[in-house]
Amino acid sequence: MIKSLVNFIVIKEGKNQRDMSWDLKIGEIKHSYISDIDIWQAINHFYFHSQVTTSYKFGFFKSLLENLYNVNDELVLNYNYLFYSFTKIYWNLVVHHGLWQSNNRNQHSVIQRILETYSEKYAIPKQWSFDKLDNELQLKIVKAVKTNGKRYFIGAFYGDTNGLFYEFNLKAEHLKFNKPVYEFLQHHQRTLIQLTNYQLAKFLEKNNNVPHVDYLLTKVEVISRRSSLDKFYQIINKYENNNCFYCSSKLKQRSVHLDHFIPWSFIQTDDLWNLVLSCQRCNLQKSDKVAESNYLDHIIKRNDILLDNLINEEEHYFEYYLAEKLITLYEYSRFNGYTGKWKPYSI
Ligand SMILES: [Zn+2]
Repeated sequence: MIKSLVNFIVIKEGKNQRDMSWDLKIGEIKHSYISDIDIWQAINHFYFHSQVTTSYKFGFFKSLLENLYNVNDELVLNYNYLFYSFTKIYWNLVVHHGLWQSNNRNQHSVIQRILETYSEKYAIPKQWSFDKLDNELQLKIVKAVKTNGKRYFIGAFYGDTNGLFYEFNLKAEHLKFNKPVYEFLQHHQRTLIQLTNYQLAKFLEKNNNVPHVDYLLTKVEVISRRSSLDKFYQIINKYENNNCFYCSSKLKQRSVHLDHFIPWSFIQTDDLWNLVLSCQRCNLQKSDKVAESNYLDHIIKRNDILLDNLINEEEHYFEYYLAEKLITLYEYSRFNGYTGKWKPYSI
C-alpha cells in the first residue's frame, strides 16, 4: 500500500504513557506517514484493548462522529459543539433512562454526578429528554460537563487512539482533526457509529440491571435524536412556499413532515440545512434513502435562500454550513451504503 505524507500527531508534553494520557494538556501534530491500516489498528486498540472503567470513551467517540460536519475549513472542532453532543447523549442516558455509567457501583463517575445534581436542583422530570430543557439551562449544564470532560476525555481518547486522531490544546477550546483520519471517519462513519453504539450498549448492559444488549442498543441508537423538530419547522415554514420539497404537492397543515435530506441514520444530527418540508407520502416512501442528485441541487438553492433571509438569532444554524459540505456528505452517503436514487413515484 502506498502511504502518503500527512500530518501525524504525537505527544509533545505531558506523560506519554497511554494510561496517563487523560492528564495531557496538549497533543501536537508532527509530519509522518499514516495509512488506513494504521487508523484501523488505532481504532481496534480503542475498542478492544484500551482500559474501560466508564462508558465515556464510547460516548466521546460518538460525539466526535456526530460533529464531523461542524468543523471549519481547517478541520477545527470547537469544544462547545463536541460537549453539547456529549451532554445531550449523557443527559438522556443518565437522567432520562437512569443508567449507571461506571463499573463501580459504589462510586459515581464525575459526569453522572453533575447531571444528577442538575436534574435534582431544577426538579426536572425524568421523562424529559435534554432538548426539552430551556436554552439557558442547557448551556449551563454543557459548560459544567465541558469543564470536566475536557480534563478527562480529550487526552484520554487521544492516547487510546495512539495520538492519531487530532491535535489539541486544552486552553484553546478546540481540537483539530488529522486530515487522513478525518477522511477515514467520513468514509466509514456509518460502520463506526454502529460499532460505537454496540460497544456503549454492551458496557451499559454489564453495569446495569437490564434485560439484554438489544434492549439498550435500541435506546442508544436514538439517544441523540431530538424529541421535537418543531423549532426547525417554524423557521423553514416562514421562508418557503407550502409545498412538498420532493413532489411539490400542496402541504396540508396537519400532515407536514420534516424530512432529513441526508438520512438521520447516517448523519445522526438534526441540522436546519439538512431538513426539508415534505408530504407524509414522500417522507414515508423515502424513509432511510437518499434522493436523486437533482434534489441535491434543489436543497443547495433552498439553503441559499434560507441563508439570505435568516434573522440574527437563526444564523447560528448555518455557522459551519457550506454547499460543498452538503455535496461531500451526499457523496459519502454512497460510500456508506446509501444508494442515492430515490424519487417520488408520482414524478
Ligand atoms: Zn411529496
